[in-house]
Amino acid sequence: MPRPAAASPESPCPAGPPAARAPVSAAQRALQRLGLTDDTALVLHLPLRYEDLTRVTPLGQARDGDEALVEGVVLSCEVLARPRRQLVAVVQGDDGARVTLRFFTFYPTHRQRLALGARVRAHGELRGGWAGWSMVHPRLLAPDAPLPTGLTPVYPTTAGLPQAYLRAAIQRALARLAWDDTVPAAALAELPGVHGRAWTLPQALRVLHQPPPDVERDALQQRTHPAWRRLAAEELLAQQLAQWQARQQRAALRAPVLRAAPDGGLPARLQAALPFALTGAQRRVVAEIAADLARAHPMHRLLQGDVGSGKTVVAALAAATAIDAGWQCALMAPTEILAEQHFGKLVQWLEPLLQPSGRSVAWLTGAQPRAQRQAMLQAIAQGQAALVVGTHAVIQQQVVFQRLGLAIVDEQHRFGVEQRLALRGKAGAQAVGLEPHLLMMSATPIPRTLAMTAFGDVDVSTLDELPPGRTPVVTKLLADTRRAQVIERIRAQVAQGRQVYWVCPLVEESEALDLRAATATHAELTAALHGALDAQGRPVRVGLLHARLPTAEKKAVMAAFARGELAVLVATTVIEVGVDVPNATLMVVEHAERFGLSQLHQLRGRVGRGSLAAACVLLYSPGEAGRLGEAARERLRAMVETHDGFEIARRDLAIRGPGEFLGARQSGLPMLRFADLQRDADLIEWAQRWAPWMWAHAPTQAQRHVQRWLGAKLDYLKA
Ligand code: ADP
Ligand code: MG
Repeated sequence: MPRPAAASPESPCPAGPPAARAPVSAAQRALQRLGLTDDTALVLHLPLRYEDLTRVTPLGQARDGDEALVEGVVLSCEVLARPRRQLVAVVQGDDGARVTLRFFTFYPTHRQRLALGARVRAHGELRGGWAGWSMVHPRLLAPDAPLPTGLTPVYPTTAGLPQAYLRAAIQRALARLAWDDTVPAAALAELPGVHGRAWTLPQALRVLHQPPPDVERDALQQRTHPAWRRLAAEELLAQQLAQWQARQQRAALRAPVLRAAPDGGLPARLQAALPFALTGAQRRVVAEIAADLARAHPMHRLLQGDVGSGKTVVAALAAATAIDAGWQCALMAPTEILAEQHFGKLVQWLEPLLQPSGRSVAWLTGAQPRAQRQAMLQAIAQGQAALVVGTHAVIQQQVVFQRLGLAIVDEQHRFGVEQRLALRGKAGAQAVGLEPHLLMMSATPIPRTLAMTAFGDVDVSTLDELPPGRTPVVTKLLADTRRAQVIERIRAQVAQGRQVYWVCPLVEESEALDLRAATATHAELTAALHGALDAQGRPVRVGLLHARLPTAEKKAVMAAFARGELAVLVATTVIEVGVDVPNATLMVVEHAERFGLSQLHQLRGRVGRGSLAAACVLLYSPGEAGRLGEAARERLRAMVETHDGFEIARRDLAIRGPGEFLGARQSGLPMLRFADLQRDADLIEWAQRWAPWMWAHAPTQAQRHVQRWLGAKLDYLKA
């Protein structure tokens, strides 16, 4: 017997354990690739859509666009070379009407089925044209098999895994399925939108995999059918159960009690020294955070507030509270520029107040000189650094805190789950058996339904008020052909002593292309503004900032812009988050159609930071097709129509869906497979209501329910 190739040490070994085993077919391998390795996975692999193969539509009675099953005799079948290689067959129905079937990829089986004079059934979308009916890539079916009585499910699949094979595997798994219900009957009875049809879970699954002939077809296709709702409810309940559990586990952890001195201490002194009064929203949020910090359990709070709502000072006050209580605080930001800016501000605010105690604000980044870094590490380990500001460098292993009491993550959605976990897991507080408190900040507000699911274990504070005196930014949409007009506007702004950002297109595939575009625009603006003078009669200078610049140079350019020495800053999206130059009044975004909605909103937030009237010009270039895509148009329209970060987030979610909106990796959100946050919002509330009840009254069932639906994904929920 020949030795199987896979077991031979000389030949490349395919994935899988090397132990000898029965040869695996291509279809089985494809099943494994999809993760469909056991009955549970198979029965939860639900149809994408359904085909109606229950009746044959006479060609003479068909309508354009119908998805139909047709039947007839093959009149001709040939391979054409032009305009593209294709197999073309003409089939005549019993009523004499004809349909042309086209295949751009085809196999010998196609030609066997379409042999001259053979009877054939084809399922697909019927198109009417001057030459009669046609179908592109119909599915061919045997003409003599009995027609199914119910809808036929069509599953998501992959190369090498035919629908029929997949369907059979799922049917076998379904037949073996012996699941009991983990959802208590009392909860099922209150399930909204199932119209009194309290199926067992296996019953609901059977409806989805083998729809009965009398099923409500539209509801099934649109996933509003009670059977779909049942699945969504199960999944959402699992998620709420897991989050409730995470919350309980956190409540069992201990954290240092961080409370400022009775006279108000450092936070009060910081507030008194600020050049502005806090807004009402800031005062409320500061109090919410202070209340959390004063408890002996770790805070897990998300501070969300629109761009420019003043989150930094809230973070500074929280840090001051931790420091006053004798603990250290860490603040992590996603980019060097942003971290640097925070550092500058916090040093300015806090160091004068810290000086008497001999403590300081430390700075950590991957790019700093070794000696400086060593000194910082030592100050952190010995506790002399009261506050540590930095990039990802803050969570590296060598960074050892003496007593970390509070960790703050700015622009939290830009970090991965692992990074947030690493910050929380920092030794220091843990060395004495205490977890640090965690404050996450984000300018991308999370719509309520998403907050209830993805962030169920997080308390949310919202800054819903901008500091006074801001004038809303006027947003204009202009075709790129009107560049000259925009440059004139820039000239007028800089003549008044104002400053301008020009953001260059994002070319995803290539940083080199980004750079080329930015460099070209820089040259164009430099030439166009040659000889122009600013309000003080100085020649106008144009700066260039992009990701490839060495850190020192980036800093120098940013600093020159902040000091007003550069009137115009041409930049790639490195300025996206956090940069704060109140004198900038005009933001031009080139190829705005290529940016995401939240990203555009963040960019626009760079202007209108002072009391000066500000504008944002979105330049767009219709693509080769001469028009923008639907999603791009939606995004640009939203930007013109609203300034409200919450409304922007809501529309962004609607355009992109929650998966992309947050990204599984970034949010720690195990993607919902069956539930849809918009469609199933009422189910979220139901799940929220029943999760605590289940833990209290049916803990074993609750545990099994979570395992069944989330299993391996559980760790994610704890981040
Ligand atoms: P973001 O929430 O986008 O991080 P920042 O914290 O950068 O906003 O604040 C934006 C600007 O508003 C900063 O210049 C900050 O100093 C200023 N600011 C914050 N709070 C107030 C306030 N209550 N009154 C006036 N200006 C404020
Ligand atoms: Mg900020």
